[in-house]
Amino acid sequence: MPKTHTLGLPRIGERRELKKALESYWNGMINRNQLREVGLEMQRLSLRYQRELDIVTVGDFSYYDRMLDTALLFDAVPQRFRGLGLYDRLNLGFALARGATHSDGDVEPLAMRKWFNTNYHYIVPELDSRCSFRLFPEDVRGQIRTARRELGPDTPLKYALIGPATFLYLSSLRETGGTGSAAGAACCAGDACGAAGQAGALELLPRLTTVYAELLGLLAQEGVAWVQLEEPILVLDSLSPEWLQGIEVSYRELQEIPQAPKTLLATYFEFANENLELIARLPVDAVHLDLVGSGWGQQVTAGAKPQTTQGSAINLDLSRLNGLPQQLSLGVLDGRGVWKADLDALLEQLRLFAHRRELLLAPSCSLLHLPYSLESEHGLVPEPLLAGLAFAREKLAELVLLRQALCAGDDAGFTPTGETQQALAEHRACRARCREYQEQQGCNAAPAQTAPARSPYARRAKLQHEKLQLPLLPSTTIGSFPQTPELRRVRRAFRRGEITGTAYTATIREEIARTIKEQEEIGLDVLVHGEPERNDMVEYFAGHLDGFAETGFGWVQSYGSRCVKPAIIWCDITRPEPITLEWIGYAQSCTDRPVKGMLTGPVTMVKWSFPRVDIPVRDQVFQTAAALAQEVRDLEAQGTSIIQIDEAAFKEAQPLKRLDWPGYAEWASAAFRRCSAGVQDSTQIHTHMCYSDFSTLLDAVAAMDADVLTIETSRSEMALLESLHQEAGLHELGPGVYDIHSPLIPSTEQLARRIRIALGHLPPERLWINPDCGLKTRRWDEVRAALRNMQQAAELVRAEL
Ligand code: GLN
Ligand code: ZN
Repeated sequence: MPKTHTLGLPRIGERRELKKALESYWNGMINRNQLREVGLEMQRLSLRYQRELDIVTVGDFSYYDRMLDTALLFDAVPQRFRGLGLYDRLNLGFALARGATHSDGDVEPLAMRKWFNTNYHYIVPELDSRCSFRLFPEDVRGQIRTARRELGPDTPLKYALIGPATFLYLSSLRETGGTGSAAGAACCAGDACGAAGQAGALELLPRLTTVYAELLGLLAQEGVAWVQLEEPILVLDSLSPEWLQGIEVSYRELQEIPQAPKTLLATYFEFANENLELIARLPVDAVHLDLVGSGWGQQVTAGAKPQTTQGSAINLDLSRLNGLPQQLSLGVLDGRGVWKADLDALLEQLRLFAHRRELLLAPSCSLLHLPYSLESEHGLVPEPLLAGLAFAREKLAELVLLRQALCAGDDAGFTPTGETQQALAEHRACRARCREYQEQQGCNAAPAQTAPARSPYARRAKLQHEKLQLPLLPSTTIGSFPQTPELRRVRRAFRRGEITGTAYTATIREEIARTIKEQEEIGLDVLVHGEPERNDMVEYFAGHLDGFAETGFGWVQSYGSRCVKPAIIWCDITRPEPITLEWIGYAQSCTDRPVKGMLTGPVTMVKWSFPRVDIPVRDQVFQTAAALAQEVRDLEAQGTSIIQIDEAAFKEAQPLKRLDWPGYAEWASAAFRRCSAGVQDSTQIHTHMCYSDFSTLLDAVAAMDADVLTIETSRSEMALLESLHQEAGLHELGPGVYDIHSPLIPSTEQLARRIRIALGHLPPERLWINPDCGLKTRRWDEVRAALRNMQQAAELVRAEL
């Protein structure tokens, strides 16, 4: 009969206890033991969540990040951290993640990158070709023993590990003696995993496999029944033959350990369609397959239709699974989505299957990407949606119910017990209630999916330049200015109804006026209002668009102690009333220089929320675009001549499989163009993206046809422009001239040098001068000094033209 398990759970705490403990520890408010105590409590909580599962997973807990922990476990610590006298592994880990100060100067932390196509950032281990791995299993033993203490000796435990191939594929390989990568403590740091998989890293696989083998032996000694080796890279359709072969050799070697636990090879985030043959050849005891996918690519479970019914309707094709181990773990519940599953549909499919294989049932991936539980959810608006939702705890309950229903039935007669029947009926009724509410509110409008093209850029440019009368190399910023504690306090007070709308508006206006004045004093050419009214670029717009529900407590870990609270898309997205007009209009009234309107783009809005599963994400992105288009046109009518539509998640949203890239490029860029459909040629549309690695995405970005694109390039000293400037469809570019993530103030000379390099690639008519991202995480004194130097540099180089 099927057994239930999960690949992992959230770990930040139902009330974000771990976040608070970490931040207190870093500030010196609590000691190491107090932090450990909170960590232990989080592990115990996870065990309580799993009480009714057949196999209990440990090893998914981390104080910061599991890729980081894996690097520490195998002692893959870059040289620059070794002289710091950090003998304590926990503190060493924090130094790797956050950097450290040392008498000889600061030690740069490891970089961060997006974990596949999620909004979770992992710490990128830095390896070099001489790396020798050693095992430091203290933490592994600790997690197992905590579970043993809580559960007794008989509960079957599974230890979750990131597999050797995925670990190497996602690491960065440095030249020996290198100084390391740039800091990553960013609002928007990192690229998705597209650039990973350096060939040199593969050469380390045999050495790394040897220590993994040692670790498996140790897990056996600790009495662990299963080890979960996570190889999410096996869902990519872009693995080279060398990597595929390396993986095979590595897993053969792991199989030779005499007394290893049973191995579960886990793949997730999409169906491992392309690599099933390889997976079938790997000598593992069980394989986990994600039958739900992320919803952003085509779902190809059985080479079949994309998923469009609410809840996870999987599409199992038994013949595709021939050759895989007899024990299969099926990821049938959407581990990244918040909706209850259609258990009836699942049961129907699973019943055909259950007697032929030894089944494990699980969510599609770790539940790390979901909030803990609806039990903490008191603030959801609108409330009737609660009936249709399932967070981590509720997903596990669905899993248990599914197993009970399957155990009771067989091929011949499917007759669950009365109790199970009742639970199923209740679950069904809840979903129906939510669905009914959604329909009452008018869900399911079919959106227009096309976007009329604007006039050719040359024509637009002429009119825009005539209208705006900007100097060559115009200077601007990306949007936000420092968010002071005072601003946060006022926003919070307004949200809680503690101050009046009039008082709130007055404070925000004051801040806007001040920000405009500062920019005028610096001498910037295109100004911004500074975004003082926004807590977060997505949350703010989600709060003002219909169709997005705000949760009261739906926190999800983003990196380290940082969490985000994604909105839930539950209905057609519309704009009930103008959102930004008042603020932008006020800002413009404070100055004669042009003020940019500032919006968050449709892909980013949907990617950083929990989408609906009853219509494709693409439709939700188009609905958002249509709503934003109204805002764009209203801004234009109000006299705004420059409108920036940020697409910070444009790359993160790119599907994992290459096969899906052309389709994504087409619809995602069309959605962006939809936002500016119908604007005058003389209105200039900007976009901003926080990453520099466009290599996999050039077509899509070019097809957005924005007049001006601002991007991050300062860290690569403009090297990126070497290829970008030739790209048709990229018009004017604002390669960030300095890194806002660092507190260092760039000198005028340094900045002028970068601008001159940029001019080697781009004619002056196409070059803008700006920082590489918004300034909200910086202090005013830093911002003032850096922007002054930037403006001076722009004027200096302008004079040379
Ligand atoms: N306009 C936003 C800001 O400046 C952009 C943020 C981002 O790209 N992450 O804060
Ligand atoms: Zn940015």
